[in-house]
Amino acid sequence: MTNTAELFGINVFNDRKMRERLPKATYRALKKTIENGEALDLSVANVVANAMKDWAVENGCTHYTHWFQPMTGVTAEKHDSFISPGGDGEVIMEFSGKELIKGEPDASSFPSGGIRATFEARGYTTWDPTSPAFIRERTLYIPTAFCSYTGEVLDKKTPLLRSMEKLSAEAVRILRLLGKNDVNRVTTTVGPEQEYFLIDREMYDSRPDLIYTGRTLFGAMAPKGQELDDHYFGSIKTRVAAYMHELDEELWKLGVYAKTKHNEVAPSQHELAPIFTTSNIATDHNELTMEVMKKTAEKHGLVCLLHEKPFAGVNGSGKHNNWSISTDTGENLLNPGKNPEDNLQFQLFLAAVVKAVDEYQDLLRITVASAGNDHRLGANEAPPAIISMYLGDDLGALVESIIEGRDYKSHKAARMETGVDALPDFKKDNSDRNRTSPFAFTGNKFEFRALGSSLNIACPNYMLNTMVADELSGFYEALKGSENLESDLKALIRETLTQHRRIIFNGDNYSDEWVAEAERRGLCNYKSLPEAMEHYVDRKNIDLFTRNGIVTEAEMRARYEIELEQYSKLLRIEALTMLDMAKKNITPAVIDFTGELAGNVQLKKSLGVSSFAEEQLLDSLSDKLEEFVKKTDELDRAVKLSGRYEDNLELAKFFRNNVFVTMQELRELGDSMEREVAADCWPYPSYGEILFGV
Ligand code: ADP
Ligand code: MG
Repeated sequence: MTNTAELFGINVFNDRKMRERLPKATYRALKKTIENGEALDLSVANVVANAMKDWAVENGCTHYTHWFQPMTGVTAEKHDSFISPGGDGEVIMEFSGKELIKGEPDASSFPSGGIRATFEARGYTTWDPTSPAFIRERTLYIPTAFCSYTGEVLDKKTPLLRSMEKLSAEAVRILRLLGKNDVNRVTTTVGPEQEYFLIDREMYDSRPDLIYTGRTLFGAMAPKGQELDDHYFGSIKTRVAAYMHELDEELWKLGVYAKTKHNEVAPSQHELAPIFTTSNIATDHNELTMEVMKKTAEKHGLVCLLHEKPFAGVNGSGKHNNWSISTDTGENLLNPGKNPEDNLQFQLFLAAVVKAVDEYQDLLRITVASAGNDHRLGANEAPPAIISMYLGDDLGALVESIIEGRDYKSHKAARMETGVDALPDFKKDNSDRNRTSPFAFTGNKFEFRALGSSLNIACPNYMLNTMVADELSGFYEALKGSENLESDLKALIRETLTQHRRIIFNGDNYSDEWVAEAERRGLCNYKSLPEAMEHYVDRKNIDLFTRNGIVTEAEMRARYEIELEQYSKLLRIEALTMLDMAKKNITPAVIDFTGELAGNVQLKKSLGVSSFAEEQLLDSLSDKLEEFVKKTDELDRAVKLSGRYEDNLELAKFFRNNVFVTMQELRELGDSMEREVAADCWPYPSYGEILFGV
């Protein structure tokens, strides 16, 4: 077996392979494109394509695919073989620069939110040279961006790449103003921590709800859940360990820096965290990670669930988006350094993030909204639907002192007394205590914790990048003509932090007091996707994206329609699945069981013995079954009623306020019957069997 160092990146056309396989001039030209975003010409692309093809064919590939991230929420690929007629009935393996650079998948079947009529269905995929090509299952994968014939953005990667460019330009401009002339490029970095559930394949196969919707729609709680906290960081079971081992190896081969793995809070729940990289590659790698997680599970007789809330009553799965900004000179701009009180550059970038998060808290909420994540945000497990920031003790104290105009009392003195002055000043632990905060400063980065586990991280990141870029641009305008930069800078930082103080909250985000307090502060609290999404197209949000050239108003309106439509579709599928389970399996099972009970009652009566137990159970279940059947009808009617709505927002709201509420009521009735029906008569495996079955 190969060792890890040899294994790492074995399936990636990475820098080393490019250097080995490309002529020097081509390699240099390509590097310029990757590092500085310079345009690539076709002659260079031809050479690169040929080298990529040779490498892929040597490694057993027959096909290539442009790999892209449409609005569907999953990645898309269309495979073409390398073969080309070579004369005399022979074939040769060919791959041109043109094929590398541009693909033309039929775009008509991807959601576009109505910006593109079906007759102009042409869409283009364009090679993204900043994310390396890789091999999976005998196919060469080329990461690409996806847009329409007329240039409209149809994917999540294009806005991300644009936002990275924008943030770089704005950060460089302001750094130059501060005298940092050696910086030419700034990159955003991301490390996404990924949670997932792992369950047995057989259990999964016998649950239509898991198969069709990714979550259980019925299911009474097991006697044991997560209350003992014995799963979190617990020792990893053999079968799971074997899975994790293979997962790591598969990811390493693809150049994904899979680093940390552990059990999570809920039974059967686990987490994987990679080492951070650029936002763009981190996004591609996270999409790959989710796919490889699922594929690898198949080989182990397991199923990997990435739904945000597969099981009611136990913790759901999220994703922590660790985000920072670094320069091409190797400086992390969110690192406070030894003396943050004197580090005006850090303070300025901090102020930009604080202002951005406050002014665009609604966008941050919107970007993590999904039918699945609605089950988490606002429940006591994930950060709440209210966006606020946690800065930690040290940084929080610094910000307070700036606002109040006081001297900052550093914690250094205290540490010296304990003789641990070797520790860095802003220890991670110092700022990481508040696990309830949706947006926490963690030493030298911000951790956005409200993401759902299945979310494509491109969206939160392009929003984050754009809003911070926009604030930096405002700062530049305010400072550019300054005669006394230092005092103007200080004044700007103080004014900004003062104005946006309300977004900083260090207390318990799960508490009811916070909900009331946040309302007093005027922070928004959108509890569901329809409620949040409505604000996506607020003027200030449209202005933000158009002003920065990230997406157009038409594209935003399209995305708005797509999100709402998908939400309604998902809820409809859930409701239909529930109806199916209720009518075809649960009701018949309870009828059978109660019929058996009734027979026993008669028999016992004829024998003159007590039928107390049977009668009591029969009574209780018969009442519940009646309610259950009525509720099933009610849900049926609600789904039919939804056909009346034409407007996507109205429809989504109807699903949320009507269909979804009825579903929850139906579930409660179903679950209470499950608690009373004999285990072998219930048609589905129980929570206990599923959650503790691996
Ligand atoms: P925790 O569970 O305490 O949040 P982890 O170590 O599991 O910590 O995850 C932290 C994540 O943050 C890792 O993916 C790590 O690579 C990432 N990270 C560290 N520094 C940066 C940075 N400068 N920019 C982006 N991500 C970072
Ligand atoms: Mg974390």
